[in-house]
Amino acid sequence: MAKGKSFMDKVAKSGQDTTIHCPECGESISMIKLISSERSEKTGAYRFKQKFVGMCKCNENDLSST
Ligand SMILES: [Zn+2]
Repeated sequence: MAKGKSFMDKVAKSGQDTTIHCPECGESISMIKLISSERSEKTGAYRFKQKFVGMCKCNENDLSST
């Protein structure tokens, strides 16, 4: 019994640390890295921007289409 309880505690803890659930759709939010390139009009050079965004059912279509 004690073994099972500690196992459940571990699962609950690791779940809290790694998984965020969206309050709107209830799906787990996964962090993805978006890289977008944009060209500077002054220099003509391409610059790459990185950002991390949380993706869930609410915005996965928007993110995959961009
Ligand atoms: Zn959502």
